[in-house]
Amino acid sequence: MSYLDMLKNCELCNRRCKVDRLNGSIGFCRADDKIKVARAALHFWEEPCVSGQEGSGTVFFSHCNLSCVFCQNHEISQEHIGKEISIERLSEIFLELQEKNANNINLVTPTHYVPQIIEALRIAKNKGLTIPILYNTNGYDTLETIKALNGYIDVYLPDYKYFNEKYALRYSTVKGYVENINSLIGEMLNQVGTPRFDERGIISKGVIVRHLMLPGFLFDSKKVIDDIYRTFGDSVYISIMNQYTPMHKASDYPEINKTLNPKHYDSLIDYALSIGVKNGFVQDSGTSSKSFVPSFKNEGV
Ligand code: SF4
Repeated sequence: MSYLDMLKNCELCNRRCKVDRLNGSIGFCRADDKIKVARAALHFWEEPCVSGQEGSGTVFFSHCNLSCVFCQNHEISQEHIGKEISIERLSEIFLELQEKNANNINLVTPTHYVPQIIEALRIAKNKGLTIPILYNTNGYDTLETIKALNGYIDVYLPDYKYFNEKYALRYSTVKGYVENINSLIGEMLNQVGTPRFDERGIISKGVIVRHLMLPGFLFDSKKVIDDIYRTFGDSVYISIMNQYTPMHKASDYPEINKTLNPKHYDSLIDYALSIGVKNGFVQDSGTSSKSFVPSFKNEGV
C-alpha cells in the first residue's frame, strides 16, 4: 500500500475532515495532494542539542491544521505562502541539507504532509540520507498518523500547548487537544525511546516536549509541566519556551496581547525544578522578538 492512500479520506489530524485530497478536495488545513514548502535552510534557534554549531536542516511546510491566533509563522500557516514541490524534490532538499552539514532534518508543521514525507524519506534514505529525522509537530496529529511514522522518525518534538481545553478552543480553534496529547507522546516514546545524544551533544533519538508559555498563563503552564512529568517522568525532555510575541491576531485577545512577564517565566522554571524535572531546556531572556521569525522567501526550496 502506498502511504499516499492516507490522503483519500484525510484523518491525518484530529480535525478528521475525511476529504479526498487525491481528488482535489481540501479540508481545514487547505493542503491538497501537492507539497508546499516556504523555506528549507539551516536554522540556529532551536534547542542547543538540535541546532548545535552547524544548524538544524529545517523544512517549513506551508498550511497548518491548527489556527493559532498568535502564530508567529502565520504567513505560511494561515496565509498559505510557499512553493509547490514534488515528492522527489522534497527528497532532494533533504539530501541538500545533509550536504550543507545540517545536524538533522527538522520537519516543521508536517502533520498534513505525512504520507508525502514518508515517500520522500524512502527515496532520500535509498540515496544516502543518514542524519536524524525530527518531527516538529503542534501535537494535534491522530494516533494513526504517528503510528505510520514508526521507523522513519528519530526525534519527536511535540508541542503541549495548553492544559485546559477551553484555551485550545479559544486560541487554536481545536477541540480535544489535551485529551489527545498524552497518547501521542506515549506512542512517540514507544517508537524512539529515551533521549540519546552523540559525542557532540546533538540529540540522535528521543522525545522533547515543548511548551510555549503564554502571558498571564502561569497557572495553566504549571499544569502542563505537571502533567508531562507525572505521565512520562525523566523519559522525555521538557523544553519551556519564553519566546511568545504578541502578533498576528493577538490584538483581538487583550489578555494575551502583551509580552511574557519574565518573573512568571522564572516562577515556572522554579516550579518545574521543585517537582523534580531534571531533563529539559529553558530560554534566555530576550528571545521574544519578531526578528526570531525566519523570512519565508522559498530559500532552499
Ligand atoms: S490534515 Fe488537513 S485535511 Fe486532513 S484532517 Fe487535518 S485539517 Fe483536515
